[in-house]
Parts: sequence; C-alpha cells; structure tokens
Amino acid sequence: MKLSELKAGQKAVIQRVDGTGQFRKRILEMGFVQGKEVTVVQGAPLKDPIYYRILDYNVSLRLEDGAKIEVRLLPEEGLQAASADTSEESILQPREPEQELGNMLPLRSRQHGKGNNKHLRIALVGNPNCGKTSLFNQASGAHEHVGNYSGVTIEAKTGYIYYRDYRIEIIDLPGAYSLSAYSPEELYIRDFLLGEKRPDLVLNVLDTCNLERNLYLTLQVKELGLPIVAALNMFDEFATRGERLNYPKLARLLGVPMIPTVCRTGLGLQALFDEIIEVWEGMLEGREEVISPEIGKIRPIQVNYGSLLEPVIEELSTKIDQHLPFEADRPPTRYIASRLVEGDKPLEDQLMNRYPKAAFIISARDYALRTIKDELTSHDAEELMTDARYGFISGALRETYQANRQHRESLTDKIDHIVAHRLWGFPIFLLLMYVMFQATFSLGQYPMDWIEAGVGMLGDFIASSMQEGPLRDLLVDGIIAGVGGVIVFLPNILILYFFISIFEDTGYMARSAFIMDKIMHRMGLHGKSFIPLIMGFGCNVPAIMSTRTIESRKSRMITMLVVPFMSCSARLPVYLLLAGALFPDRAALVLFVLYLSGILIAVLSARLLKSTYFKGEDVPFVMELPPYRLPTAQSVVRHMWARAKQYLHKMGTVILVASIVIWFLGYFPRQSEQEQQLADQIERLEQNPNLNEEERNSQRIELEHAFAQYHQENSWIGRIGHASEPLIRPLGFDWKMGVSLISGLAAKEVVVSTLGVIYTGDPDDSEEAQHQLSERIRQEKRPDGSPSFTPLVAMGFMLFVLIYFPCVATIIAIARESGSWRWGAFSVIYSCALAWFVAFAVHQIGHLLVV
Ligand code: GDP
Ligand code: MG
Repeated sequence: MKLSELKAGQKAVIQRVDGTGQFRKRILEMGFVQGKEVTVVQGAPLKDPIYYRILDYNVSLRLEDGAKIEVRLLPEEGLQAASADTSEESILQPREPEQELGNMLPLRSRQHGKGNNKHLRIALVGNPNCGKTSLFNQASGAHEHVGNYSGVTIEAKTGYIYYRDYRIEIIDLPGAYSLSAYSPEELYIRDFLLGEKRPDLVLNVLDTCNLERNLYLTLQVKELGLPIVAALNMFDEFATRGERLNYPKLARLLGVPMIPTVCRTGLGLQALFDEIIEVWEGMLEGREEVISPEIGKIRPIQVNYGSLLEPVIEELSTKIDQHLPFEADRPPTRYIASRLVEGDKPLEDQLMNRYPKAAFIISARDYALRTIKDELTSHDAEELMTDARYGFISGALRETYQANRQHRESLTDKIDHIVAHRLWGFPIFLLLMYVMFQATFSLGQYPMDWIEAGVGMLGDFIASSMQEGPLRDLLVDGIIAGVGGVIVFLPNILILYFFISIFEDTGYMARSAFIMDKIMHRMGLHGKSFIPLIMGFGCNVPAIMSTRTIESRKSRMITMLVVPFMSCSARLPVYLLLAGALFPDRAALVLFVLYLSGILIAVLSARLLKSTYFKGEDVPFVMELPPYRLPTAQSVVRHMWARAKQYLHKMGTVILVASIVIWFLGYFPRQSEQEQQLADQIERLEQNPNLNEEERNSQRIELEHAFAQYHQENSWIGRIGHASEPLIRPLGFDWKMGVSLISGLAAKEVVVSTLGVIYTGDPDDSEEAQHQLSERIRQEKRPDGSPSFTPLVAMGFMLFVLIYFPCVATIIAIARESGSWRWGAFSVIYSCALAWFVAFAVHQIGHLLVV
C-alpha cells in the first residue's frame, strides 16, 4: 500500500520509492529507503500534508508525495528496529552520557591574536538545525565578522578564534542533508569544499539524537576525501534519553574523530578544538595514528556499493586515472566515478568544462550502465547507492548504538498535538500571527513616531540655523528626510525579527508552514510563504526580507515578487482620501474591495509565475519538524541585530540616493523670477495698511499656495507628469494625477501630499487640510468642464496606486534578496504594466456600463 493511505498512529516499513528526479533523490536521502520504519504521527488541520516519524526525527510530506512511497503495514507494536538484537557488551563505552556531560569544558580562547599565529581554515558542515550557527557564534564570539559571499544569495559567514597558538578561521556554511547538488545550497557547499577556497579540515556538526540521518552527509563529505572531525552536538538532549552510544568506536569505524558538545552553551568545545588541532598537526607531521590507512583517526573508508555497481565504479576509476590528469584540486577518483554512476549532472558539466577527455569518460559510464540495465530491474543506480550508504551507517550504528526501546511521548509530541491540532491548529496560528502583526506595526508605531519627530526636529533645527538656499533644502528635504525614511522602518524590522527568530528558534516556524502548506500550495507557493505575505500588509520591505526562511528558491522568488501586491500601510492614506471623497457612503466597502483585489492579483500572479518562468519540479516539501527548543536570548538578539545591520547597510545607501533624486526632480528647475515676484507680493501685502492681520495672513497663504502649485507644475516631476499624459489619458487620469503617481515612486504616502500641493498648494496632512483637499478633488474640473475625479476614475486611480511600482525601498529589497537587479527591474515593469491594464480595463469597461 501507499504511505499516504496510512492513518495516524500506524506504522509501516518502506518498500520502494517511486517518482523521479529531484523528488526521489531528496526522499531517499531523507531516509525513506527500503526497510526503514515509518510512523504516521498526524495530519495537518486540512488533512495535507502529513506528519511522519522516521529514523527518529519528524518530517512532513504532502499527500501527493506520500502516494509515491510504497510501504508494508506493520501490526501495532510489531517488529522492532534491527538495532534491538544487539548485545549490550559491544556497545558499552567508558562513560555514561550523563557522566560525560559533567566532564565537558567550555572553550577558553585567547582574546587577541598577536605574534606569529599558525593558520587553520575549517568549514562547518551539517544538517539544518544541528547547531552549526550556535557553534560558530560560541567559538568566534566577539570576533565575528559577517560577510556575504558575492553572487549567491546563500550565505557563508566567516569568523575567527584564537586558540592555543592558532588563528582558526571558521566558515559557517548553509545546512544540507546531502551533497547531491540538487539544491543551490548543496551545490554551493560542494563547490566550496572542493574549490580554491577549500578548508584545511571539515568540522561536521552532528545532532547526536538523530545520528542515522546526520551521518549520511558525513559519509558524503568523507567521499570527497577531506579530513573530518565531528562534533556530537545536542549531547545534553541525548544524555536525557537513556540511550547508549559507544562513540569512540563509531569514530574508529567511520574514520571520523568525534567529540561530544553542547553548542548552545559551548560545553565540549575545548576538547573539540584540541582534537581538531591534534588531527591537523598529525596530518602535517604525517603521524601514523592520524593518517594511517588502517588505524589512523581520519583513515579513508569505502562504502561498498554492491556486486552490481562496484565493477562499474572500478572500471570507471581506471579510466578516470588514465585520462583526467590529477591536479591538486581534482576530487578523488573514486568520488568522481561513483558520482557519475549516480548520475550527477552538475559534476558532469564541471568535468566537461575542464577536461577535454571528460566526454569519453561519460560515454563509458553510459555504456557500462546500459550493460547492467537488465539486472537493475526496479532499482536504479541512485537508489542502490543511497541504500548502500544507509546500510553502511546502520551497520556502524548497530555495533555502537543502543536505542531506548519504547518511544516515550516527548514534550515535542505533546505540543504538536495542540499546535497542529485539527481544530486548534488554525486559531492558535492566527492568534500568533495577529500578535506578531500588531506588535510589529502598532507597537512599532511609537518608536516610529519618535524617530519621525526626531528627524523633524533635526530638520527644523538645521533649517533655522542655516542660510536659505538649495544647499539647506537639499540637506533638510533631501538628505535628512531620506535618512529619516530609512531608519523609520528600523523598529518594525527589529520587532518583526524578534518574532521571527523566536518562531524559528523554537521550531514553531516549521509547524506554521505545515499548517498553511495546503492553501499556499494551491497558489504555487510554499507553507512558509504565508508569513511574508501577511507581513506585506504592514510594510513590504521587512516582508521581503522575511522570505529568507523559505528554502526552496522558486517558492522564495515567487513569494518575493507577489508580496508587493499585498496592500501595505503606506497606500492606506491614498485610499482613505479618495474613497472618502468620492464614495463617502461606501468607503469601507471600497477599502475592502481594494485589499481583496490585491490578494487576488497576488494569487493570480503567483500561479502565472509558477506556470511560466518558475515551472517544473521544485524541491519537494519534505520538511523537517525539529523538536521544540527554548531559544536563547543571545541568539535572538544576534539575529535581530544582524538583520537590522543588514537593512541599514544595504538598503540605506540606495534609498538615500533615490530619495535625493526624487527630491531633486521636484525641486528643480528653480523659478527664481516667480519666487522674486512672490516675495515682492508678500512684501506689498505686509505693508498694505488697509488690511488687518487676519486678511493679511490668509492672503499670504493664498499667494504661497499659488506659487507652490506653479512650482510643482513646472518642476521636472511636473514636466514628466505633463509628458506622461498621453500614456495615462486612456485610464481617465490627467497630468496632475500623473505627477502624484510619479512622486509616489519614492513612497506611496507621498501621493497624498503631492495631490495636496497640486490641488490646494498645501502639502499639509492635518485633518483640516485633508478635508479641504477632499473637497477640492470633488470639485476639480477638466478643461471641458466635466469633473476630473469621477467615482470610476477614482477607483481606477486607487487600483493603480495599489498595483504599480511598490516603492523604491521594496524594489531595492527585491533586487538585494534575489541577488540580481534583473528581478527588481522585472517587478517594476510587471507591476506598472499590470497597473496600467487593470486601470484601463476598469475605466473602459466602467464607461460602457455607466454611460
Ligand atoms: P543550524 O541550523 O545548524 O545553524 O543550527 P542552530 O545553531 O541554529 O541551532 C538550532 C537549534 O538548536 C537552536 O534552537 C539552538 O538553540 C539549538 N541548539 C544548538 N546546539 C544545541 C545543543 O547542544 N543542545 C541543545 N539542547 N540545543 C542546541
Ligand atoms: Mg545556521
């Protein structure tokens, strides 16, 4: 029967995995191999996906994917895992896990690195969630230096520690389950480990509670021929489980020295780094106990791929040695041979680019595989090799590891019964979302107001203490306002990331994706796309930054591109003004329609993108549901700070330039003649004895407004607005609306103040001024006497504001996060074109219906 047909609580043994390509590969690597036991824990509230337990970890799988896995049902409390029949003796190790834990020491690194340090580069490799970043932060401490490797959006962080007489460079690589190079992360890690910047040594972080799956990656790194030292992390959790692990023996079996650690607190790191240095020095000095092929700590191991594939690998190895010259950075022969047999396309391409003879090797591989095709029957080489690796690991664990027979219901299980519950799951999720949204935007409003007030005060101060002139205006209205516009989002970003780090660190993020996946999948998205979309209603910039939690690149890109259609709070003032002016009785309904249109456009765009550019198989939704853990304050603060820094650093500069450009376009050319005239008129006014104070004031304001209107019309933006008229006339817009739309490129709330200047000469957004503006908008006439703003035009205009060019900051966020300006440009063109067509359709169809 199929895995998807099992009910909650049932157990089964995996028989076969169908399906193709990436899906199958990923499923196999996650441990869904023949003979493994799998238990159904529960379904999501919408019945899809399903939550399983396999190899002692939790994973969620969509029904459609589960249908590709053939299983045999086990009777309740049936067969025990193979490890049950191990004799106790062989597993005994010198100390109990608890005792071991008591002996562990934190790292005491030197504070600075003077003198002649010896250098050592190590790379951290491990599954997601095994504690790499914790180790990195604990070890590198204050020396942390965060750098993005250019070109890829995948990050690798570099840090240093000074330990003994070494300066050790640590590189934190992204998490991965294997090195098959199906995901960009995997390819990145592999290229890193084999490339020019290859590390001297790999530090493999393992989750001790979940060794079977974690060791899969270890084996693959081992095949690359790199020396590895492993940290048996989460040893504190392991110690509470009443299980046994003879890890010194496991280390010998695998040729990987292993040291227990608790990276969350730093325990065990002393011993770990001692071991690393010992291995490294042993390699340099050629010490037997380290490098000997038989007894060495890092001796090479070979997985036996079976009687069918081994001859093929052997033969191919001989050919590789003959035809591909051995250079220092060429991966080991057996690695190339076995990867080729497994059908590793990226490796084929790399070989083809580099060696003229590679084509010959590849056709030899094809030929060899064809000759054994009949014997492969229902299996293929890839599956046999995955099986063999898991077999190797099982064998090693059988001799060294003793599981706790009965699976007690853990705290994680209990929490999951509530938060992923059929009835409670959604309400709890929505409540948490509500709290996060409210905190980010309502609580964030206070510091935002303070920042705005502070920036305003600074502007006033400079305005009053500097000579009048373009320089002062640039400083006050361009630079200070621009910088203010950047830092004003900082509180939002900090609060949002506070919540996101807590959700991520506790493990709730995976559950929320689990709950939402079915709905989001319909849209061509991923369960994890939900949070960014919701955040988009507040502000698109942090929303786009929060797409980082989505591993699948395709889903992440689609999410990023549709977030701008979620109507952010900056668009609200425009809606309020126009809906209030033209739909006074039905303003709420209009608002609702607008928000809904945004969502609808997002859904349709997502489906469109999914079925065109981002077509094709994606990384399957095999998502690990990690055990719940308490986040540490340190890690939450670090996360928040890292994001804030990134925001200020990367967005800041560009947003600043953009706001200066827009300021410039609105400020120039100066109409000095008219300005002089205004000054003269005001002077005359002041000296006119026939006017009382009140009349004088009101006339002066009138004059100033007339000038502001005149200036707005004749500035560069005004001219562009005039020039754009033919383009927007089919939408029913006039040049004044054009000007306000163009000034809204910087930020959408600017549309309102620009309308204010154009129609009343007053950029003020006080209630009174707004009322006046709304009045003016209703009365505004075209040259032919018909009203400028009909309800139809207003509707088209509001939709246009909703859809077109999100804002400079959002576009920059898209460009930065996607790693390419092309996507920023795409978003601009797509949204503007779509806005035009929607407004056009509304205007034209509306005309037919109304007139
Ligand atoms: P990464 O994905 O490999 O970078 O893993 P992280 O460093 O982000 O850690 C994942 C989670 O495991 C976090 O919640 C950590 O606080 C937690 N964690 C890391 N190391 C340990 C450990 O040794 N023991 C326990 N109990 N939790 C740990
Ligand atoms: Mg990490």
